[in-house]
Amino acid sequence: MTAANGHFASVGDDSNTQLQSFEHGIQVIDENKTYNANLPAYLDAEHVLRQGFNYHLISVFGSQSTGKSTLLNHLFGTHFGVMSESERRQTTKGIWMSKNKRDQAERGAVKMADNILVMDVEGTDGRERGEDQDFERKSALFALATSEVLIVNIWEHQVGLYQGANMGLLKTVFEVNLQLFLKDNNSTPRSLLFFVIRDHIGTTPLSNLRQTLLADLTRIWSTLSKPPGLENSKIEDYFDFAFTALPHKILQPEQFIESVAKLGSRFREGQKSSRTNPFSDEQAEPILLPEYHRRIPADGFSMYAGNVWEQIDSNKDLDLPTQQELLAQFRCDEIAREVLVAFDEVITPLESKQADAAKSGSPSVLVGLGKAMSGARAKVLKDFTGEASRYHQGVYKRKSAELETNVDARLKTLFQGQLSAAHKTGVQQFTESVSSAVKAGQKKGSNYDFQKIVNAEKQKSLQNYEQEASDLVIEGASWSNYKQELDLYRKDLDEASGKLRKDEMRRLASRVERWVRSHLSESIGVQFNKIGSGRGGSGAPETGERGSIEKDLWDRIWLVFTETVKHAESRFTERAKGFDASPEEVEVGLWRLRRKSWGVLRAKIDEEVMEGNILLKLRENFEDKFRYDEEGVPRIWRPSDDIEGIYTRARESTLELIPLLSKFRLHETKSLPPLEEWIGQTPAELSAADEEDLHPIGGVDEEDGKTLDEEMTVLSDAKKQDLSVRFKKTADGVYVEAKRSAIGGVTQ
Ligand code: GDP
Ligand code: MG
Repeated sequence: MTAANGHFASVGDDSNTQLQSFEHGIQVIDENKTYNANLPAYLDAEHVLRQGFNYHLISVFGSQSTGKSTLLNHLFGTHFGVMSESERRQTTKGIWMSKNKRDQAERGAVKMADNILVMDVEGTDGRERGEDQDFERKSALFALATSEVLIVNIWEHQVGLYQGANMGLLKTVFEVNLQLFLKDNNSTPRSLLFFVIRDHIGTTPLSNLRQTLLADLTRIWSTLSKPPGLENSKIEDYFDFAFTALPHKILQPEQFIESVAKLGSRFREGQKSSRTNPFSDEQAEPILLPEYHRRIPADGFSMYAGNVWEQIDSNKDLDLPTQQELLAQFRCDEIAREVLVAFDEVITPLESKQADAAKSGSPSVLVGLGKAMSGARAKVLKDFTGEASRYHQGVYKRKSAELETNVDARLKTLFQGQLSAAHKTGVQQFTESVSSAVKAGQKKGSNYDFQKIVNAEKQKSLQNYEQEASDLVIEGASWSNYKQELDLYRKDLDEASGKLRKDEMRRLASRVERWVRSHLSESIGVQFNKIGSGRGGSGAPETGERGSIEKDLWDRIWLVFTETVKHAESRFTERAKGFDASPEEVEVGLWRLRRKSWGVLRAKIDEEVMEGNILLKLRENFEDKFRYDEEGVPRIWRPSDDIEGIYTRARESTLELIPLLSKFRLHETKSLPPLEEWIGQTPAELSAADEEDLHPIGGVDEEDGKTLDEEMTVLSDAKKQDLSVRFKKTADGVYVEAKRSAIGGVTQ
């Protein structure tokens, strides 16, 4: 008989085969008092496991062979084993459970409540006590801890027999209830004791039987020793009562069936306000009141019942509130693990993607991350609440907060990783965009507006960042804000702008330098060319004082030079201010410009005084003086002319140029140009980059050890000497040629 119980239903069987093996329900506690861990499989097979609080638990009590199993089978369509009429042996062992098979209304009957689970408890045999009594007590406790309604099944002829076996059972029920109640008088719910009087002949009306039973119950209650504080409590403080009577099943089979059907209709959900204690004899009253429910969610019932049984069976104090908390902790953890599976499915790939990108050094912004995160977060919290909120509220709230913390820690990492990726790529993109816009501007000529480009790109970059960041914000998660990060981003963009501006300053500086170079090349060349014409200016009438042009050569060069640089400086300043360069940056730029311009001038002078160049100029200067008269008319040499005298004067006059040329000295002030003052003080804020490619200048850069005089020396003494000798030779050649032509002219 017991071979057909749930022990043998292995996990993984489909529910049909399981239902078959659960034909007689499931033996929750077997004859060895072992709890059946397979209960969840049964509840699952019966589709109760996921019903939350939407189920009811009813137990039946009574002496052996009083037709308990028969009654349940009729009431609920169950298949509990019953004693065959011929054998008369005890059949029910331990505690069996079965789901109501009649919860669908049949033949116009009133529909019963959903998911009624019935426990058929092994009856006590009045004759044998001891071991039997132990199980009676334990099963009573178990039933009270789990069941909403306790059906007490008694024969009519037992009513009023105060010493009967049933009264012993009831005494036990009351005692264990008190025991539970002591542990926690707030959360131990009321139970309904539903007396079903069997083989009711009808001569004694039900109301009389009821009176007798109530009197007996009160009497039993009064004999119990009650704990301090509860001495005056009444039985009605803990139990509700209902009574019904059924006709003899064998002798009045039709009436029995009819009465059982009526009784069945009472297993409906009702409201407290609709009845008094005890229930009236009105047979139609629903008996499943919310206050009887044990509030153990169906998916936690097996674990709860198992733990409760373990406590009971090992004779430990049964503390239901503690059991409920333990259950809540276990189940909440289990539920958290379950709901995290879906969360992981979405979030883990994103986490590894982000980690990989970060490791590779090229952080990337993950598309759709914000949506995925808020979706996964909302789902995991909702799923958890859906299942776990039925458990002990304190535990649930704590575990819910734990889960949220857990989930948020991971989301926050993703959130910040994304922001940092957006930050890095954003700043990089900004720099690239500005650079390529500048390049495009340069192609069209240098008249692009640098500051306008920077402002537009910065605006775009900030917008992109904010868009990315706001997409990440999760509603209801206070940590998901990006104010600080945005500030930091703005700061870094400013820093990047600063770098770009420095580059732009460099470009501007080299443009201006190029301009200075080409301008000086021409205008300084012009000044040196004037040496070639011995009378200075191009065709200007000679004013008599020959050589005055040469004397202020350096004054003119200095003037041209300083004017040119001044012009360049104003161009530089104007452009640099246009893109927001700071006064310090402008100061550095101008300082560099002056130094580099001086270098340009100095190189240009060196080029002009290169051996071949200057010798040519001196020769031209000499020839101008020698071959042309005061009016600038070419001389035709005659033998009578003082060729030698003219030659000597012209030669000496040109030779005077050599010491003049050899040093950059101003005629007006009779001193070297004020180079140091002109370059000005070295700016205070100077970076290494600012000093790059600057050459030391004598008399300005002290550590260089070169004096201003050396800086201004155009021709060394040796060069001067050499130049004089070469020039004289050239002049001599011209003289000889003139002499020859004078003689030749006579002979012709
Ligand atoms: P249990 O031990 O209380 O579960 O009793 P059973 O349901 O196994 O029934 C024990 C015996 O009582 C069986 O032989 C039944 O046929 C018989 N029986 C069942 N219902 C009634 C009833 O209403 N009246 C009488 N007199 N006998 C019944
Ligand atoms: Mg039975």
